[in-house]
Amino acid sequence: MKGLVFDIKEFALNDGAGIRTTVFLKGCPLRCIWCHNPEGLSPHREVYVRESRCTHCGLCLRPCTHPECQGLGRCLHICPQNLVSAAGVEWESAALARRLLEQSDVYESTGGGVTLSGGEPLQQAEFCVGLLERLRGRVHRTLETSGYAAPGVFRQVVSQCDFVYMDLKLADRAAHIEYTGVPNDRILENAVWLRRSGKPHCFRTPLIPGITDSEENLRAIARIAGDSPTELLPYNPLAPAKYPNVGRRFSDRIRPG
Ligand code: SF4
Ligand code: SF4
Repeated sequence: MKGLVFDIKEFALNDGAGIRTTVFLKGCPLRCIWCHNPEGLSPHREVYVRESRCTHCGLCLRPCTHPECQGLGRCLHICPQNLVSAAGVEWESAALARRLLEQSDVYESTGGGVTLSGGEPLQQAEFCVGLLERLRGRVHRTLETSGYAAPGVFRQVVSQCDFVYMDLKLADRAAHIEYTGVPNDRILENAVWLRRSGKPHCFRTPLIPGITDSEENLRAIARIAGDSPTELLPYNPLAPAKYPNVGRRFSDRIRPG
């Protein structure tokens, strides 16, 4: 089974306990206007250009014959400053499991492990299950998810994990649609199940200025989370800089500070 991955971050310190390797899976059904991983939104392989340093010389726009460049609209190899890359690499679950287990000594000595993140990992649920099964009993497995998936899919992947971080962004349904592009019914249903499942977990809320950080929203989320552990995540002010790199525009509705 193959999956599409847009980054593998080794020695990660903020994606769960200990030192971890975080696998970022491509594709997300949400469109949070504050998203700090715009290269993870599309479920397809795409070109990534570090626009802030581009001199617009046009070299990479010339047609090339490299098989790996076809369909991207740019040559990955000709830029004198090496600014062009592809976001999205296909991995077989067996090969990725082997790569992840190379760091087993680090995980064991620090109480760390592997974290699946995104994008939204549940978009590639079958691949996640295959990968997590291969890691079972050999490494601690954490999932970071928006919780936006059909309940059957959510439960299937969560059952293969040792720990789950799940976002609760906005309690109000209309606000959830307005700022993330999807309603929160599934998320709330999955949150209730997660709370009762006995699976170790933590709910997380990103603090987005003027959107998620109101007292009303945080109180409502606290009621949904009940006695489960919760965390507040700071807004990432570096998010807007990445958008031009994948040809997207960051929302002008967020005004930090
Ligand atoms: S080759 Fe490099 S500098 Fe020239 S247009 Fe492409 S990305 Fe920009
Ligand atoms: S759920 Fe996460 S990856 Fe998806 S749009 Fe929202 S912030 Fe971005």
